[in-house]
Amino acid sequence: MFRPHRKHPEGTGRVGSTPTAITRRCLDSALACAASSLPNEFGGILRADPPGTISELLLLPGTTSGHRHANFQLQMLPVDLSVAGTVHSHPSGALHPSEADVTLFRRWGRRHLILGRPFTEGSWRAYDGNGREVTIAVIGLPTPTRPDAGLPTYRPRAVHRGPTLPDRDDE
Ligand code: ZN
Repeated sequence: MFRPHRKHPEGTGRVGSTPTAITRRCLDSALACAASSLPNEFGGILRADPPGTISELLLLPGTTSGHRHANFQLQMLPVDLSVAGTVHSHPSGALHPSEADVTLFRRWGRRHLILGRPFTEGSWRAYDGNGREVTIAVIGLPTPTRPDAGLPTYRPRAVHRGPTLPDRDDE
């Protein structure tokens, strides 16, 4: 069995430890996925790398979404202890877990996010494996509303024509 070698930098949690933070970038992309999945639910898996900070959203193959339910194919999970929990959306806007959600939370994972419509900055909550609400810090800068702002404008260079090209100016 392949086991990737992992380093344990000083000051970060152990692999598999309970995450206490999420990057702004990861949270924003989950909210964006939830909004674009409307009217259906959206479901994904959260990875914490470095340990302790949820930083990556995984979309599992075979995850189906419906109006009321996002079905996780947990057997499709990578063998990876940095996988921290789940995220799914509630198009109804409710931020509390349903009974089925708590059953899922109890089965597996340390932290679970529920995103509620309208999927704006504050429309989410985090829960532990028993469905109790927990606090997760959001770290990092807000995503710019115009991601292209501030980038240099690309100007293609003039093409130098070779001597073999026909010279139209002779007509
Ligand atoms: Zn739910």
